[in-house]
Amino acid sequence: MSGNNAQTLVEQAPNKSPSQVALPAEPSQLPDTPLTDTQLADPLQDDEQEIVLRVKWRSSTYIVELSQQETLVDLKNRLFEFTEVLPKRQKVLGLPTSSGRPPEDTLPIANLNLKPDHKIIMIGTREEDIDALNNAYTAVQHDVLNDLDFDVPDDHHKLRILYKNRLERRIDSTEFRIINPPRPGKRLLVLDLDYTLFDSKGIAATVADLGRPGLHAFLASVYPSYDIVVWSQTSWRWLEAKLTSLSMLFATDYKLSFVLDRTSMFRVRSRVANLTHRHEVKALEIIWRRFPAWNASNTIHIDDLSKNFALNPQSGLKIKPFRNAQTSRHSDRELFMLDLYLNLIAERESDFTTLDHKQWKKYVWSRNPTGYIHASRGNEGPPPDPSSS
Ligand SMILES: [Mg+2]
Repeated sequence: MSGNNAQTLVEQAPNKSPSQVALPAEPSQLPDTPLTDTQLADPLQDDEQEIVLRVKWRSSTYIVELSQQETLVDLKNRLFEFTEVLPKRQKVLGLPTSSGRPPEDTLPIANLNLKPDHKIIMIGTREEDIDALNNAYTAVQHDVLNDLDFDVPDDHHKLRILYKNRLERRIDSTEFRIINPPRPGKRLLVLDLDYTLFDSKGIAATVADLGRPGLHAFLASVYPSYDIVVWSQTSWRWLEAKLTSLSMLFATDYKLSFVLDRTSMFRVRSRVANLTHRHEVKALEIIWRRFPAWNASNTIHIDDLSKNFALNPQSGLKIKPFRNAQTSRHSDRELFMLDLYLNLIAERESDFTTLDHKQWKKYVWSRNPTGYIHASRGNEGPPPDPSSS
C-alpha cells in the first residue's frame, strides 16, 4: 500500500484494480424531504452554500469544502490536515490577484468569487523525518486532532438532511482499499484508532507499547463474529505507520477488512444544548452504500469521541479514552469489557438498532456478572469493573 496514493481523493488514479474502485453511487437512501421554513431559517443552513475547491498538491487532488465565511487561513489549515504541510510553508497558486499581489490571508474565500470546483495548486514541503516518527506524533497530532467532545447532537436527523450533498460526495470519492474481503454473514465493527486502541501521545519505549491493554486478544476474540474496519481521523500516512507499528496489519489471528482515513470524513455543524459545534463525522452510510449487506442492524462503531458518530448516534458506542499509557495501561480494562459486550450482542441480538450502547456495561454485567471472559483469554487481566464508566 502506498502512503501517498492511499490518502488522496484521487480523481485521475491510474491502474485502479476493481477492488479499489468505489461502486457507482446508488440513488440516495436518505430522506429527500424538503427543508421546512424553520430549517431554512436555521444558521446551519449556511453550510449548504459551501465553496468547493479542488487543490492539487504533487500528484494528488484534494476536495476542500469551505463555508462562506472561511478565509485563506482556514484553507491552509484544511490543506495541512490533508497533506501535513504546515500552513506557513504552503504557497497557494491559482487564486485571483489584486494588482499582482496575492489575496490577504484574512480575506474570506467567498469574496474572490471563484467558479464552482475552482482548481488551485498548493506548493509546499512537509516536515519529513520518518526516523523521528515517535517524536513527531505529538506535534502533528496537536494541530490535527480536536479532542473536545460532547454528547450526541440534538439534531442528528436534521444533520442527515442538511449534509446530504457532502455525504454523497464522500460516498463518490471514498476509495475502499480492501485488505481482506468482507466475509458473508459477519457483523461490522468500525473502530477508531487514536485513544480508542492506541495512545498516540503516550510515552513508551516503542509504539507497540502504546496499544491499549488486551488489544490483540480483543481483536482476535471478536473476529469470528465481526469484520473489522479501522477508521481514523488522521491521514493515511500516519494511519499506516501506526497500524504497522502496532502489528495490526498482518496479525495471524485476526484480519482487518479495510481502513478509512480522514479523507472519508466531512465537516458538519451540530447543535448541542443550544451551542453550535463545528466538527467532522464518520458517516457509516459511506460504508453501507458500498457494502449493502451491512446496515444499522448489524454495525457498531466504537470511538472515544461521540461527535464522530453524530450522523449515526444509534450505532455508536463511546469508549473511555485511553490516555497516559505509561500509567493507565496498568489499570485500563476497557477492551476486556468491550470484548464481552461485542460477543454477547453478536450471540444474542439479531438487530443492533434495539440496543442502547450507552448502557453497554450494564448489559454486560446483567448477563455476565462473573466477569468471565473466555477460556482462551487466560489471565490477561482482572474482571472488568462495572462501576467505572
Ligand atoms: Mg479517537
